[in-house]
This record gives sequence, C-alpha cells and structure tokens, in this order.
Amino acid sequence: MEFIDTHCHIYGEEFDADRNDVVQRAINAGASALMLPNIDAASIDTMMALCRQFPGVCHPMMGLHPTELPEDPMPLLETMEQLIANDRQQASPLLKAVGEVGVDLYWDSSRREEQLQVFRHQTLWSCRYRLPLIVHSRSAHAELIHVLSPLKDQLCGGIFHCFGGTDDEARELLTFDDFVLGIGGVVTFKKSSLPGVLQRSVPLERIVIETDAPYLAPTPHRGKRNEPSFLPIVLQRLADIYGTTAENVAAVTTETAKRIFSL
Ligand SMILES: [Zn+2]
Repeated sequence: MEFIDTHCHIYGEEFDADRNDVVQRAINAGASALMLPNIDAASIDTMMALCRQFPGVCHPMMGLHPTELPEDPMPLLETMEQLIANDRQQASPLLKAVGEVGVDLYWDSSRREEQLQVFRHQTLWSCRYRLPLIVHSRSAHAELIHVLSPLKDQLCGGIFHCFGGTDDEARELLTFDDFVLGIGGVVTFKKSSLPGVLQRSVPLERIVIETDAPYLAPTPHRGKRNEPSFLPIVLQRLADIYGTTAENVAAVTTETAKRIFSL
C-alpha cells in the first residue's frame, strides 16, 4: 500500500534523536514521498539537509508560516523568493510548493493585517512560479477567501492543510480548481465533526492525507509525537468514512498528491 505524507515537519528538533529511523519506518509502512513545508528562516537549512539525505523521498517547499512572522517580514520574504527563483532555473528543481503559508487568528490576531499581506504576497509566488500553494488557516476562513478569491483564475492548485471546518466552508474551498483538503489525525478523534463533513460534502478525489508531524497524532497515539508511519491509521478511518478499503483510499489520495506536487 503506497501513500504520501503531504505535510510533515520531521526536520524539527523533536526528531533530532531518531530522524533516520522515522524516515525508514515511513518507507517501510508504504510512504513513497514525504512533503516538508517550511516554517521560518531557521528551518530552511535543516529542511534542505534532510531532502539531500533522502533524495526522491523527502521533498521541500518554501514559505513563511503565519505564526512565525519576524518583526519586519520583508527581508526574509525577499530571501525566500530568491531561493524559489534560483531553484526554478535548475534542471531538476527541488521545491515542490509554496508553503506553508496562510492566516492564523487563533494564536495571534494582533497582526491580522500583516498576516493577510504576507499571505497575499506569497500567494502571488504560487501564481508566478506555477507552484501549488499549501495553505494553513485557523479561525480565518473568511480572511482566506478574501485573499484567494481575486486570484481564483491565476492560482494553480494546492492544499488547504489540516482542514477542520464546516460543510459550507468545505464546499466553498472546493470551488477553487485543483485545490484539495489535507486530512490527518483529527479525523480519528472521537468527538471530531470531520467524518460527517467529509461524508456529506467532500468527494474522496478532493482529499489528500497528511500528518502535520510532530503534531496531531491519530488515536491511539493521540497526544504523543506524530510521525508518517502512523498514516495507515488515518487511511483505515477514511476507508470506514467513505465505505471503501484503505488500499483504495491510499491509491486515490496518492494519485491526487502526485498530481498536485508534480511528482
Ligand atoms: Zn504544518
């Protein structure tokens, strides 16, 4: 059973002690690719190092996370765009997406306007360099739509990562062509409303799977460190939700992920 973890931060210090084992366990469990979203300035080198160590398995993205804005984000944004521009000129570009970017008003709404500006700025990279957009959104659905709607025809697809919204929000997000919802450990939580939303409003062809490791480990690992080798648990839960087999969920979501990231 082949699957792709479309969103994991396994370059982080939580994995310093056993990172190679984590990647090996993922491969043994069936992972054919691990997609690594960038966070801030400091994460770039560790992310790229891991991708060099596991070429063809670990793939990097480039972006500034909404909760990690420096005092003045502009110099870092310029550096990141230069890295993307340089990478696009290589014979085999490494960067597979712009991410992770977005709006997070749950942790900090004091810099709302700045977050929207930085998100819009990076969304334009996705259009300019024809890279998919990996979007983080928390308590910010309206803001997200506000930024993305004017660019609807220029966008080239992507993932609304860690989707946890309502039926209406899911339907609105899926009006964006070639965008899908990233589904992870939350779908296994006992009181999650996500299974119902998926059943009613989201076709299997419009989701991909992700861990967001080290966060959001699925039941029965809930509260512990998450890692890509746990994804078969998510596949099985999705199989129950969609009334099919884990193998089929893996096949469909893997094909979707390969299309989005051009793997
Ligand atoms: Zn993330």
